[in-house]
Amino acid sequence: MFDSIASALRGANRIAVASHLRPDADALGSTIAAALWLKSEGKDVTAWNEDGTLTKFHYLPGHELVSTPPATPEKFDVFLILDTSVKKRLGTVVDAIAPGALWINMDHHVSNELFGEINHVDPSAPATGQILFEFFRHAGVRITPAIATNLFAAISTDTGSFQYQGTNARTFDAGSALVSAGVDVATLSRAMYESQPKRRFELLRFALNRAEFHCEDRIATFSLTLEDAARLAVLPEDNEGIIDNLRSVEGVLSAIFFEELPDGKVRVSARSKDPAIDVCKVCQIFKGGGHPMAAGARVHGTLDRVKQDFLKVVCDEIRKRD
Ligand code: 5GP
Ligand code: MN
Repeated sequence: MFDSIASALRGANRIAVASHLRPDADALGSTIAAALWLKSEGKDVTAWNEDGTLTKFHYLPGHELVSTPPATPEKFDVFLILDTSVKKRLGTVVDAIAPGALWINMDHHVSNELFGEINHVDPSAPATGQILFEFFRHAGVRITPAIATNLFAAISTDTGSFQYQGTNARTFDAGSALVSAGVDVATLSRAMYESQPKRRFELLRFALNRAEFHCEDRIATFSLTLEDAARLAVLPEDNEGIIDNLRSVEGVLSAIFFEELPDGKVRVSARSKDPAIDVCKVCQIFKGGGHPMAAGARVHGTLDRVKQDFLKVVCDEIRKRD
């Protein structure tokens, strides 16, 4: 598969690279790493994300390559899609790709719908950045310090700093090679993990005060209404990682974050701490997806309704395991 992807990319002139909306560092780091490489091969590269590069990711070298998609479609030879399990999560990027491009889908989500013409989906990889690293190694790509930094950020964040399920010798092998290629681990880690805006800290303070425990204290939840979000003046991107604080409690098997959205939907973000509780399966019931231990969905309904429905399914899963 890597060979056909490498030859399709090397044989193309105009290439678009994109990843899922509300990007994390795996989505953006992978996008930027791929764009940097393709540029170095002399390609005409366009990198898009529905949300552009959020300010909090400006530590990624080359972030200025990523822009928001235009309103009218553009022609490409290849459309390279990274870290995106379903077409819908590309958001407005899809409308900017004129028909005729070859869609290459590289991802690590088990729930990937294989919507590309070439699909390389490897759920055993803890990050898309890991897949890209292995692809680069296979294709003989020279990994510059900027590419290495993007891939390291991708892998580090998606593995919770090399901690989560799926982190294995392969992950450290990639980490080691990337550090050898020029990653400044301390500087990058400070930017990733110790530079949150005060605004986000206030959200965390609020979340910890409002945390609830359900299902004999085995589920921890936090809900954010539109009103709370407006009062705290938080940005959507500030939510990332808040849920990890809920999951950290001993005895909690699943942490769930419910966020009221302006479109009448609720964004559910779910985490598991026990491989027997597969939150991806639960999210798929609600038309979402992700990974067994980290998944999400956007569900129609009020915050309370969605919360009750979702909690019931997760609690049933936990009781099945008992
Ligand atoms: P998060 O909870 O951090 O937003 O997302 C966790 C994982 O679930 C990510 O891998 C993300 O791609 C996936 N995910 C989150 N929300 C959705 C959704 O609405 N649909 C699908 N298919 N996957 C989602
Ligand atoms: Mn990812």
